[in-house]
Amino acid sequence: IIRLRGVNKSFGKTQVLHGIDLEIERGQHVVLFGPSGSGKSTVLRSINLLAEPDSGSLQVDGVEYGPGLPGEAGVRRGGRLALRRKVGMVFQQFNLFPHLCALDNVGLPLRKVHGMGRQQARDAAAVALRQVGLLDRAGNYPAELSGGQQQRVAIARALALEPEVILFDEPTSALDPELVGEVLKTMRLVAETGMTMVVVTHEIGFAKEIGDLNVFMEDGRIVETGPRGFYENCSSDRAREFLRAVM
Ligand code: ATP
Ligand code: MG
Repeated sequence: IIRLRGVNKSFGKTQVLHGIDLEIERGQHVVLFGPSGSGKSTVLRSINLLAEPDSGSLQVDGVEYGPGLPGEAGVRRGGRLALRRKVGMVFQQFNLFPHLCALDNVGLPLRKVHGMGRQQARDAAAVALRQVGLLDRAGNYPAELSGGQQQRVAIARALALEPEVILFDEPTSALDPELVGEVLKTMRLVAETGMTMVVVTHEIGFAKEIGDLNVFMEDGRIVETGPRGFYENCSSDRAREFLRAVM
């Protein structure tokens, strides 16, 4: 459902992605891991064009997106908005609107992106909040919710848009340790629905459990990828070294 080919990205004079090739199938749960600064967030952000690749190609759901890329025969060039409808994202810092209650945080994008009316958006938002177990907090503002609850609202917001893929960028890194579990549990539930997920995480236990495809990055390159069991069997010294340090 996602295909990156030869994606390069620089910020100023620093090249942060070097020829990223990555193919993700529908329903797959992909874990991206590696040292700080290795380019994990930039890969995620390339997938929804929050960071536009300098060169290379991005295909999502059979549609080609990107900057002046030579379109392949039969591949339609897609717009950014259409892409954002297909690809949801959950950030480390929840990014909720502080002046909106949980229900409206989930509902607002439904009105903006899907053009729903007020009541329809509220109904759909309620369904999504129920999915993450927070329907009873629908009227609460972010400041009245724990970090874990705020992140679950952010997950509900992504789910409500019914994307094809959800990207998670270190969704538990900003949380107190005792709140990590509830967010991972919510992510497990999302995984069980068959949603395609790409997750950057340092929670190696969770990664082992969820990762059908595991991708180790370093210095803007994919060093090694592997299926389930990767964390016990990876062959590159660098991935092994990194795992030894974080586990
Ligand atoms: P972390 O684990 O710390 O989140 P990461 O693997 O997600 O790291 P990226 O955030 O993708 O790494 O960053 C890769 C490199 O690109 C880093 O050197 C970073 O400083 C640089 N970088 C990322 N975004 C920008 C930006 N908007 N402007 C300039 N440099 C950037
Ligand atoms: Mg990052």
